[in-house]
Amino acid sequence: MPVLVMKFGGTSVATPDRIRRAAKRVGVEVAKGYDVIVIVSAMAGETNKLVGYVDEISPLFDAREYDAVVSSGENVTAGLMALTLQEMDVPARSWQGWQVPVQTTDAHANARIEAIPSDNISRKFAEGMKVAVVAGFQGISPEGRITTLGRGGSDTTAVAFAAAFDAERCDIYTDVDGVYTTDPRICEKARKLDRIAFEEMLELASLGAKVLQTRSVELAMRYKVKLRVLSSFEEMDDAAGTLVCDEEDIMENKVVAGVAYSRDEAKMTLVSVADRPGIAAAIFGPLAEAGVNVDMIVQNIAEEGRTDMTFSCPTNQVARAEKAMNDAKASGAINFNELVADTGVAKVSVVGIGMRSHAGVAAKMFKVLAGEGINIKVITTSEIKISVLIDRKYMELAVQALHDAFELEKAG
Ligand code: ASP
Ligand code: MG
Repeated sequence: MPVLVMKFGGTSVATPDRIRRAAKRVGVEVAKGYDVIVIVSAMAGETNKLVGYVDEISPLFDAREYDAVVSSGENVTAGLMALTLQEMDVPARSWQGWQVPVQTTDAHANARIEAIPSDNISRKFAEGMKVAVVAGFQGISPEGRITTLGRGGSDTTAVAFAAAFDAERCDIYTDVDGVYTTDPRICEKARKLDRIAFEEMLELASLGAKVLQTRSVELAMRYKVKLRVLSSFEEMDDAAGTLVCDEEDIMENKVVAGVAYSRDEAKMTLVSVADRPGIAAAIFGPLAEAGVNVDMIVQNIAEEGRTDMTFSCPTNQVARAEKAMNDAKASGAINFNELVADTGVAKVSVVGIGMRSHAGVAAKMFKVLAGEGINIKVITTSEIKISVLIDRKYMELAVQALHDAFELEKAG
């Protein structure tokens, strides 16, 4: 039997009624002849609630116990989904991560899947079970402790199962009907894309388009899993969603596929550091060790052997970055006059694989921003992306102006 993976996010399993609606969709696929692996998230809001409990009791939590607590939301929905399917006379069984087992690293709260042996579930399929409902987001470490995969991790569970079972497709059911050219909440001209290339989706996901966990896209790209994002709220026929696929499966590539933004950026500047070999390593080594996700980096022109070094990181890591830099200064590893944190910035990016073969995208982007009187603070580029840091108050304007300039309202 061909295998299909169907993943339901938190809003799609938020109430018994919604679980029933999701189960009906599963029933339709079973009737088509698929063996279905259903991956469920916790009910909407549940994981946040559990994280809140942990924070309240133990702010500097032991990550093993954090995982024990926050993984529990998915256990509930897995059991409820299996029960719902059984009520519909669909042979179904639930599995927690450790029962499969979903083998992960021991990086608690942010573990990576290492292997998913398929024998347990395959045996059940062979015995006539039609649906394996698996709790997403969780696994088991080499020492046998429960792990979780980082927020949004059920997407990654779903893709990993699709790869392990050689599934025909991995359908991600969520509360939006697909991947958009930008966030429809801030740009009313945003359009749903029928298809998007893995690489574009990877950039959009890591730039803050929250529809898929970044790691799930990485995995789908590596194992060539056909990934579809669709809404569980709309009727079946018009829920065609967006197919995330290989670049070759897209007939016509637009130069720019989408505009992404991230509100929670901070611009950090180390004023007057010595301009000498090894200085970047001396700064970014400690930042990496402190777990600061540095994104953009600029080293300014040096004068009399001193320079300013600017980098960006998420706003909630500013305190950690400051501590790492002040510690490095105290130890004598680096020297600087001042560390200036600007937490009023946002990052806006345009993404598209067509950029590889089209010159002038950056120039056009800068011209559009200039036309709106928006000052660019930091720029970075990659082969298929250009990102700028700007004042947060201009973020929405920038997104809308770029969406217009690259004519994304014609996408689809
Ligand atoms: N429930 C987990 C979270 O909210 C995992 C997921 O839903 O993907 O992060
Ligand atoms: Mg999600």
